Amino acid sequence: MSETFTALVIDLVDGKPKAEFRNLGLADLPDHDVLVEIACSGLNYKDGLAISGKGRIARRTPMVAGIDLAGTVVESRSPLWKAGDRVLVNGFGLSETEWGGYSRFQRLKPEWLMAIPDGFSFEEAMAVGTAGYTAALCVNVLEAWGAMKPGAGEVLVTGAAGGVGSVAVSLLAAKGYSVTASTGRPETHDYLRDLGASAFIDRASLTEKGGPLQKERWAGAVDSVGSITLANVLSQTVYGGAVAACGLAGGADLPGTVLPHILRGVALLGVDSVMAPMVKRKAAWATLAEHLNRDHLAAMTRVEPLSRLPELANEIVAGQVRGRVVIDVA
Ligand code: NDP
Repeated sequence: MSETFTALVIDLVDGKPKAEFRNLGLADLPDHDVLVEIACSGLNYKDGLAISGKGRIARRTPMVAGIDLAGTVVESRSPLWKAGDRVLVNGFGLSETEWGGYSRFQRLKPEWLMAIPDGFSFEEAMAVGTAGYTAALCVNVLEAWGAMKPGAGEVLVTGAAGGVGSVAVSLLAAKGYSVTASTGRPETHDYLRDLGASAFIDRASLTEKGGPLQKERWAGAVDSVGSITLANVLSQTVYGGAVAACGLAGGADLPGTVLPHILRGVALLGVDSVMAPMVKRKAAWATLAEHLNRDHLAAMTRVEPLSRLPELANEIVAGQVRGRVVIDVA
């Protein structure tokens, strides 16, 4: 085992969060029960906020950033895991209150770990990452609500060319839904068509405030944008339809009315990935294992070294990353 290894650490400088690379040793890691050698992490919007300092994600410092990780158990004081197990963690406060995945090694609580589903490599597990697992949580909650039917009506995905959006488009199309992608990047239309989108709308058509009850169009929707976009999507959802809201790439406000809910019975289904119970996580990963086309996953993913995280963080917060980025921590 390496004596020291590089980690990306957030610390406060003049009261503001600042990311820097530091050399750590095993003795620096938290005293949790399972030591994992990390193969890869990923880049999510929240990682971008944490590293760029544009959002206050770390609630204590110093904090090893990275909300996701995949790797191999090296030592375990818990009966739940043993050396050699292939595991992943999504969320559970990593990079917020607990040290995360931008590090060669990490010590973690046993209950945060999940066995990597059969058939996923470390790289594929992190290509999915929190963004992809959240897309699957959204698909599952919409299907459980029962408003969408494959082949009947359009399902909208906003922020479609981003991480959550790309996986949502691919999953929904694989399940037989007719997927409309909302994107601000027309140059991604071919990419999104290859993932399964059959129609497109310009995201600008959703960022202007519209009326409270617009023409009914969406049987269901996955929204990673929030703000006026989400208010418009709710106003355009068909009678009895549902919207899974998971993101705030366009803003954290929700400037709408209750009218779609009380006159059309439209449901706003909130989706959280960070503290989701293990039963929902396993169901989401089962959806991914069964329905996520691996060629699509490869097409939406690039692998980057740890050293590029500061640049990549600015790119994702500016909405310039297409699909998913895997971070090779080795
Ligand atoms: P990405 O940056 O990969 O995707 C976000 C996409 O949103 C962009 O690619 C862009 O898509 C669109 N977008 C960006 N800025 C704006 C804007 N100002 N107005 C309208 N659209 C915009 O991020 P992720 O996919 O990783 O995350 C998406 C969102 O979901 C984030 O807000 C993130 O915090 C949230 N999230 C929440 C989780 C939860 O547990 N609830 C878990 C995971 C993510 P395009 O270019 O196609 O228009």
